[in-house]
Amino acid sequence: MDQNGINVQKFRMAGSAEEAKGITREFKCDEYVVKAQILAGGRGKGVFDNGFKGGVHLTKDASKVAGLVESMLGHKLKTKQTGPDGVMVSKVMVAKALDISRETYFAILMDRGYAGPVMVGSPAGGMDIEEVADKTPELIFKEGIDITKGVTDEQATTMAKNLQFEGARLTEAAEQIKALYKLFLKVDATQVEINPFGETPQGEVVCFDAKINFDDNAEYRQKEIFALNDTTESDPREVKAASHNLNYIGMEGNIGCLVNGAGLAMATMDIVKLHGGEPANFLDCGGGVTEEQVFHAFKILTSDPQVKAILVNVFGGIVDCRTIANGVVNAANDLDLKIPVVCRLEGNNVTEAREILSNSGLAITAAADFEDVASKAVASLSL
Ligand code: GDP
Ligand code: MG
Repeated sequence: MDQNGINVQKFRMAGSAEEAKGITREFKCDEYVVKAQILAGGRGKGVFDNGFKGGVHLTKDASKVAGLVESMLGHKLKTKQTGPDGVMVSKVMVAKALDISRETYFAILMDRGYAGPVMVGSPAGGMDIEEVADKTPELIFKEGIDITKGVTDEQATTMAKNLQFEGARLTEAAEQIKALYKLFLKVDATQVEINPFGETPQGEVVCFDAKINFDDNAEYRQKEIFALNDTTESDPREVKAASHNLNYIGMEGNIGCLVNGAGLAMATMDIVKLHGGEPANFLDCGGGVTEEQVFHAFKILTSDPQVKAILVNVFGGIVDCRTIANGVVNAANDLDLKIPVVCRLEGNNVTEAREILSNSGLAITAAADFEDVASKAVASLSL
């Protein structure tokens, strides 16, 4: 943001109390703000697992900064946006605090309803924006952006007026809105959310807090940004799957699913539920899947202690069923499989694939169709 003409506070990250002390020696200022860096909002009102309250603290006393940083580091912070367990804090931001005379909310996001980007703003920003949207929706302003034109001067000014900026601040806020849209495009964001988008008593318009989401599909051209990706907060199963280029989403149930095609994967999860089961994951191994990927997919499923049965549902349209069968057999042999596997294969080279499975000597239950595979997988849990 700093490199893209957006007004942010002077800041540095601290990974230890010692580093925090270094930052206070470097930044001489009247007031510091200390913020726990986790990939979730609502930090100000969050609580740490050591009972310490608030992931955002202001202090005028430079000697207190390191202590604040220490109370946050190595502890889990629970906010409205984290899970019930909270998220481990390993980095804390120390910034030069500024006085805030007014807090507004401003965001740009990709929206299906607008078939493109939309600006969302509210003069009532700050930590209770969810409540504002809920109780006083008339204080939320939306403005669709024509992707071929970008944010026009008129639109930026209208939004700044809706956010109740006045005088020189109105011009400044409109400039910041345009700069934020430029950034949104430049980094292939799906969301840029600033809260508070505030003004200071000195008349500056400053982005005090930001959340930016990036489009996964743009990874190939946003290498610098994706290189910053921090997976410490992610589901380890998902991190593992991503390293093998598998489309995997971890879920709560106990039936591990290996499916090709996102639509088939979704339908498989539905039908598992229809038969009273709960999927442990969504996994689309895709059309171009290799034996090795199937092997790793299977390994991810079997190493998940949650998984009590495995369901394979593959329609060989692009993929060769033999690839799947070989991958499954290799993995099952290698992993000393102790849980039931129910397998439905159909399509390209299915006869040979079924032979591979039945000649493997492994206790793999064959299923005839979609319905059959789901009911057999659910039934296998109670065997
Ligand atoms: P969030 O709770 O995760 O949204 O974290 P924020 O960074 O937005 O901080 C929460 C709140 O702390 C903000 O809404 C502000 O009211 C306040 N705050 C954050 N930074 C500053 C600052 O530099 N100066 C002042 N005065 N307040 C701040
Ligand atoms: Mg905020």
